[in-house]
Parts: sequence; C-alpha cells; structure tokens
Amino acid sequence: MTDVKIDISESPFESSPVVPEQFDEDHVIKFRCYKGIECFNACCSNIDITLTPYDILRLKNRLDMDSSEFLRRYTVPFEFGKNSIAGVKLLPVEGGTACQFMTEEGCSVYDDRPTACRYYPVGLLSLRRADENFDRASYALVQEDHCKGHLEDREITIRDYRKEQGLEEYDEQGRGWRRLVLKMKSAGPAIGTPSKKSLQFFFMACYDLDRFREFVKSEGFHDTFEVPEEELQTLYQDDLALLKFAERMILQIMFGEESIPRRADALERRARRRQEAEQLKAELDGDD
Ligand code: SF4
Ligand code: SF4
Repeated sequence: MTDVKIDISESPFESSPVVPEQFDEDHVIKFRCYKGIECFNACCSNIDITLTPYDILRLKNRLDMDSSEFLRRYTVPFEFGKNSIAGVKLLPVEGGTACQFMTEEGCSVYDDRPTACRYYPVGLLSLRRADENFDRASYALVQEDHCKGHLEDREITIRDYRKEQGLEEYDEQGRGWRRLVLKMKSAGPAIGTPSKKSLQFFFMACYDLDRFREFVKSEGFHDTFEVPEEELQTLYQDDLALLKFAERMILQIMFGEESIPRRADALERRARRRQEAEQLKAELDGDD
C-alpha cells in the first residue's frame, strides 16, 4: 500500500488522522435508515456537507433559484488548502448546526439531496496511485454513536446501496470535479500558486453556473474562443453540457490543457472592441 496516496478530504474523515478501513463495492454493510427510527434527523442536525457542482445544480434548480443566490443563501466557501481552490459546504441554520433543509418530516429536498447525504454512512474515498494520473473509488464506513441505523437488521452491498441512493448518476456527474480537485492537490508546486483570478474563475465555473453561462455569452469570451454556434446554443440551454464545458475551461486555464480553440485574431478583436467602447464613451461625454 505504500505507493497509494489516499486523499480523504472529500470523505467524512477529513479531520481524522486515522486512515479508515477501505472496502470495495462488494463489501456488505448492515444498515437501514427510515422515518421513525429513534435517531431520525440526528445526522441532519449537525452538518458538515461539501457540495459538488452537480449537487448545487440540482438544488438550485429544485429551489428555482439562480446559482449566485443559492450560493449566498445556502452555502459557505472553504479552501482545500492554503491559497488553493475553494469548495463550498452547506450553510447551517443561523446560529445553529442543523441543515436549513431539515424539517420534522425529514429532508425537504430529498429527491435532490447532495451526494454526501446520499452516501452517509458510507464514505467515498478518492485514491490515486503514485504512478497513475486517475482516481480510483474506494469506500469506508462511518460509524457514529448517534446513528442507530447500524443496529438495524438489513444487509446490503455497497454496490446496491449506491444504486438505492441514486448515487450512480451523482458520481458520474461529479467525477469531472473530483478529478479537478485531486489534480490540483497532486499537482502542488508543479503548477505554482494559482493566481487570484484563476481561483476566482475556478469558483465561478464550478459552483456559480449561471454566472459562468453569462461569461460564455459575453463578447470577451467570443473575442477569445472559437466555439461552433451549435455548441454555443447547447451551452446556453443545457446545464449539464455547460458543467462539462466548465471543466474543460478550467483544465485549459489552470493546467494548460488546451481543448477549446482560441481565435487567431483574439488580440485584434479585443483591441477593436476597446476602441469602439472608448469611442462610444467619448461621443456620450460630448453629448453632455
Ligand atoms: S440536505 Fe437533506 S439529507 Fe442533507 S443534511 Fe440537509 S436535510 Fe439532511
Ligand atoms: S439512522 Fe443514521 S442516517 Fe438515518 S436518521 Fe438516524 S442518524 Fe441519520
């Protein structure tokens, strides 16, 4: 195991120095959670939930909200490391530790609950071998005293538990972002300290999707990048396509992995645009 680096920052063991026992999907756990269990809502009363970009997309659409407004009302940012990329966590109720979506009846956004809520009490661990540049999934079990689901008489494999919790789709849609986070951490000094601008770009492209769409629609974007009209129309309407495109842009801007063609005349176009803006301003000033 010495050649395996374990990245546990996305797991429920972030603050624990102990590396948990790892399982594969065939591992059988004993667990059941249901409304009426004596500890009902205990897990949602003291939250520490990191959101993936797909979690945010599902929740903001469910709440019929713009991504910026969702981030303001329901999340709090954190840094994955010093001067590193940011993540976002669910913001608890004011002055408390409970989730804002918790009600007496349970989770008010259940069908769109985040990945971490679906996984609990299983933890997803991202592993990366020193000689590989892709991550492998591995799992662990979180056993907290308050959670009585472990005492229930139901056995289920982690594979079936993931299916039951709708995690295949969530993991599929969250894979690109997890890869970016791992890549960022493992790249370390190789890419130097990211500039404030690129960190801000990472935040917008990952978490503030509606603002990222405005960026893709902007003249500045069109002056710089050459994206076919058909693809642009898809990006304007399809959130999932936009999320994938955002991941490509981050790879291009932060890691130099070019996949979005740049215009050969980008500099001239931007200079022309600036000149037009200055001309217009001068004309308007002249009218005063
Ligand atoms: S989103 Fe739902 S399941 Fe997750 S912590 Fe909040 S209330 Fe609980
Ligand atoms: S059994 Fe565990 S997961 Fe279910 S409500 Fe109780 S504390 Fe939460």
